[in-house]
Amino acid sequence: MGDCLFCKIIKGEIPSDKVYEDDRVLVFKDIEPQAPVHLLAIPKTHIQSAAHITPENSAEAAYLFEVIAKVTAEQKLDKGFRLVSNCGEHGQQTVPHLHVHILGDRQMAWPPG
Ligand code: 5GP
Ligand code: ZN
Repeated sequence: MGDCLFCKIIKGEIPSDKVYEDDRVLVFKDIEPQAPVHLLAIPKTHIQSAAHITPENSAEAAYLFEVIAKVTAEQKLDKGFRLVSNCGEHGQQTVPHLHVHILGDRQMAWPPG
């Protein structure tokens, strides 16, 4: 996806502050952090959003969560954390490449706005 911001970050065309990378997943720091720890976990396969997970690509989504478990442990978020995946217009998704926000190291509120 030539014009996708996160695909460009995956290709290294746009720099990012990476905290984890393998051949299927990248986790990097959000440029506008909303918590002391604010990471974005993305599959290297371009999947538009959580609404675009199918039998063909669901293994990538499952693996994304496997990495999230590993990274949150490495980040010592043992008191808990918040995962958010904004989806579409009402979800206020601004980058159309599936991503999971990892927010931690502060008390979260519920319900969200
Ligand atoms: P969304 O609003 O789609 O759920 O999340 C997109 C996130 O990407 C936002 O939290 C925003 O701060 C972050 N973001 C946008 N552009 C960049 C960028 O160039 N680099 C990084 N590291 N994060 C970005
Ligand atoms: Zn993409």
